[in-house]
Amino acid sequence: MYPIAWAVVDRETKHSWSWFISYFIADLNLGTGEGLTVMSDMQKGLIPVLLELLPNAKKRMCARHIWSNWHVNWKGEERRKQFWRCSKASFEVKFGEEFHAMSKLAARHKSITTMLEDIRHKIMNRHIDMIKFAETWISDIAPMARAILERNKEYSKNCNVQWNGVNGFEISNGEYSFVVDLEKKHCDCRLWMLRGILCPHAICAYYYLNQDPDQHVENWYMKETFLKAYNHFIQPIPNMRMWPKTTHPSKEPPKPRKMPGRPGKKRRKSMAEPKKWGKISI
Ligand SMILES: [Zn+2]
Repeated sequence: MYPIAWAVVDRETKHSWSWFISYFIADLNLGTGEGLTVMSDMQKGLIPVLLELLPNAKKRMCARHIWSNWHVNWKGEERRKQFWRCSKASFEVKFGEEFHAMSKLAARHKSITTMLEDIRHKIMNRHIDMIKFAETWISDIAPMARAILERNKEYSKNCNVQWNGVNGFEISNGEYSFVVDLEKKHCDCRLWMLRGILCPHAICAYYYLNQDPDQHVENWYMKETFLKAYNHFIQPIPNMRMWPKTTHPSKEPPKPRKMPGRPGKKRRKSMAEPKKWGKISI
């Protein structure tokens, strides 16, 4: 993003946009907008002004803003992802396909059992995907943690060490100097404690002692720990038509509940409270 011009106005109206855009056109010599594409954030006042002042410019809406408007009534991670697939479709046929897929995303409107079945299938698939993902790791440390560790190893080359002979180190790095305590797994830069991945200073200290920093990454970044989380499997079950019929009464959905918000101003009278007839004069 490269800011070119900005203005402060009391309100974003057709008038204020017209004023701003006409100066913008004059300053940048935009003519009628030939060869220009204008991306807007769905400003109502702006669009008629653009049609009038830059009739030959292509007009586009910012997808992020469209989504922020839509998602008020159209929530869900799957829908968000599908929306972006739609917006990234570069040709019409692809867009049509993605848009069709988006209209099918209606798990929330299915019955509760169907919806839960969909979720169960998704979780089953996700489980397998995550195990496959762990198989792609090039070492026993998670890829993100590995990337940070390798980057910090590079940074550690610029550090200087002062050692107290036990676990205390003074690691200077440019204008800063940090105290590292290997016993307490503590560094004054705080990154080690925040992430559980060695900061450049701790790495520097371990290298100074001829120890491999990889051995000191917290165990929650290890492949073994990751796989432990996916060690339990969801058992397959036949589809709903094959389920035995229950003799219990069918479960009805709960009654719609009033959502939290500002409570009503009127006091609710209890059933036993007598009704007031007429006006009481004092
Ligand atoms: Zn540090």
